[in-house]
Amino acid sequence: MQAPLLDHQLHIRAIDTFIDPSRPQKRAIITHGHADHARAGHGAVLATPDTVAIMKARYGEDCADSFQELPFGEPLQIDDVRVTFFPAGHILGSAQVLMEYGGGRVVVTGDYKRGSDRTAQPFELVPCDLLVTEATFGLPVFQHPDPLGEIRRLLLSVENYPERAHVIGCYALGKAQRVISLLREAGYDAPIYLHGAMVRLCALYQERGIALGDLRHSLDVPKGELAGQVVIAPPSAVKDRWSRRLPDPVLAVASGWMSVKQRARQSGVELPLIISDHVDWNELRQTIHETGAGTVWVTHGREDALVYYCRQQGLVAEPLNIQSFDEGGEDED
Ligand SMILES: [Zn+2]
Ligand SMILES: [Zn+2]
Repeated sequence: MQAPLLDHQLHIRAIDTFIDPSRPQKRAIITHGHADHARAGHGAVLATPDTVAIMKARYGEDCADSFQELPFGEPLQIDDVRVTFFPAGHILGSAQVLMEYGGGRVVVTGDYKRGSDRTAQPFELVPCDLLVTEATFGLPVFQHPDPLGEIRRLLLSVENYPERAHVIGCYALGKAQRVISLLREAGYDAPIYLHGAMVRLCALYQERGIALGDLRHSLDVPKGELAGQVVIAPPSAVKDRWSRRLPDPVLAVASGWMSVKQRARQSGVELPLIISDHVDWNELRQTIHETGAGTVWVTHGREDALVYYCRQQGLVAEPLNIQSFDEGGEDED
């Protein structure tokens, strides 16, 4: 029943539409604005209003021939397929795609997380027959801690080293805004300084109603004045000369990968913060069970462990092996 609707390239055959295609297509559904999902050059794009705004901000107004905005929870009938978006909780506007066709329900999660995040619409569980789930952190070693606890470790360091600048490496779309929002939630209300690469997307989040407090461009103040301050920069800038010009910087990186201690050490990170915008191993398993899906397709990441787990549970499971990451060009975690 479900198999004919969708193939392993996430091509919805009945309506000749691809989900998050890596090459330009006539019709594309885009789950969210990260570069490995949203690309320029499609014909018609269907996405949530936030995702359309993010795509236009990153790639330009005419990065697709046409855009159709579909808000969360509003079904759209396209020939024989009914498409509905549900929040994925990953970044602003990120959607899971529900397709109803011939009595079957298929959900493609895109990237998702279930923990709280004031900068994204909260994840909603969508029951289905076939679940296509991401598996970025699909190994039992990945168990994300409470992000507010991680932010408190950062704030303790800011308090203990008032003569040093704290530079936090974050990807510009999603992670930066979430870290800022977590700092505000933890009671930090001083200005937060932004590397130039962060400015535009933070402004977009604020325009779309996400409260981030007092944000300033780091270039607008003499470097010496950044002692004792928090600066948000892309991970690449944390490692290069840019951050070394700041007063005795404490180098931090906020990423789900920071739970891999070796990775933190190798990149010279003094203060690794384990803050992820993806579900961890337990949440992956929880979600699979709660959707009630009998068939699970696994994509984006550690596919084999999760496929093995699903089969052990008596589910039909397959890895998709979609090649969509350009090496090193990943802009999320
Ligand atoms: Zn993503
Ligand atoms: Zn992704």
